[in-house]
Amino acid sequence: MSGVIPYGRQNISEADIQAVVDVLRSDFLTQGPAVEAFEQAMAKYCGAKYAVAVCNATAGLHIACLAAGLTVEDYLWTVPNTFVASANCGRYCGADVDFVDIDPKTYNMSVTALEEKLIQTKAHERLPKVVIPVHLAGQSCEMDRINQLAQEYGFTVIEDASHAIGGQYQGQPIGHGAFSDMTVFSFHPVKIMTTGEGGLVMTNRKDLYDQLVFLRTHGITRDNSLMESPPQSETDGSWYYQQIELGYNYRMTDMQAALGLSQLNRLDDFVCRRHELATRYNTLLKDLPLTKPWQHPDAHSAFHLYIIRVQAERAGKTHRIIFEALRAKGIGVNLHYIPVHTQPYYRQFGFRSGDFPESERYYAEAISLPLFYDLTEAQQDQVVQALEEVLTLSCPA
Ligand SMILES: *Cc1c(COP(=O)(O)O)cnc(C)c1O
Repeated sequence: MSGVIPYGRQNISEADIQAVVDVLRSDFLTQGPAVEAFEQAMAKYCGAKYAVAVCNATAGLHIACLAAGLTVEDYLWTVPNTFVASANCGRYCGADVDFVDIDPKTYNMSVTALEEKLIQTKAHERLPKVVIPVHLAGQSCEMDRINQLAQEYGFTVIEDASHAIGGQYQGQPIGHGAFSDMTVFSFHPVKIMTTGEGGLVMTNRKDLYDQLVFLRTHGITRDNSLMESPPQSETDGSWYYQQIELGYNYRMTDMQAALGLSQLNRLDDFVCRRHELATRYNTLLKDLPLTKPWQHPDAHSAFHLYIIRVQAERAGKTHRIIFEALRAKGIGVNLHYIPVHTQPYYRQFGFRSGDFPESERYYAEAISLPLFYDLTEAQQDQVVQALEEVLTLSCPA
């Protein structure tokens, strides 16, 4: 590795490598027994009924929206401070995307803002069909309250848990699904555990599960009981299948699933180490002019990210100068996220800077510090020292 300490990095063990090599020597490369085993293991880990592995979380969000029945006539709401994929999935279905501002403490969807927006839009009959709360940095949103609003206003809840595998909410694993319809995970290398590219949709509803399975593979079924009309015994042989929906090829390969299964064995260890490092950051950073990540009492974060907010006035330097000075010192800091409504693609729908002030204030102060399984204490000390220098010395680095 170069001298730069990255903000995130995967950990691949010899067992992980062996698991992938074993698949390469087997009969199945694309979706086969390892995918099924991975899905079952994930469902068991989360305590949910059904899991559908897909090629990435973006694809998972797309078919989750389709399974929820999202169309060009509907609205999808998410938060501005997320990766663009949480909003784009709505656009893939032709739906209008709108945003709900964030809570200033958790940086997750504000339930108060959600409720206010629901009350306002109800009057105009423009209620959302789908709401996508995002568990930023691995900390769960307030799902019990979001679920109450879902019952009251009749929308589908899809949790974007791309950051959150291994995290918990009210003592249950994220993905358990007690407060939502579907949960989507990402296994991109920078996330908590990896399959290279990969994602997974979790649900407890059989109807959604059947839809997700169709949509992952071209909208095709070989199960007679799911066909529109039964196969004709004189003409339709054992080759027969029916296309019921317009689906996609969003399958995961068996190589990826084998890697995922192997990584899942170490998930709790990954999360535990991230907590140790986050706790250590909390202690080392306590006297600096910055805000440390606040933890909701109901949430046990997966700690995908350790996000600080710099108090630029106290530091006497702008957010941008602090960020660039850290990069110049070899600290691979990052920023999650540029508010999605300010992206040129979304501006064309009429969104403007100022529309979601809490997300914009957050964006003007947030910095993600390096946090990953193999981060050493010496590297962490280096990050803290660089921050100290940048935030407390008067001349820019
Ligand atoms: C990473 C990420 C995604 C997309 O995940 P992919 O697996 O790369 O498609 C979606 N939402 C959020 C919040 C993410 O961080």
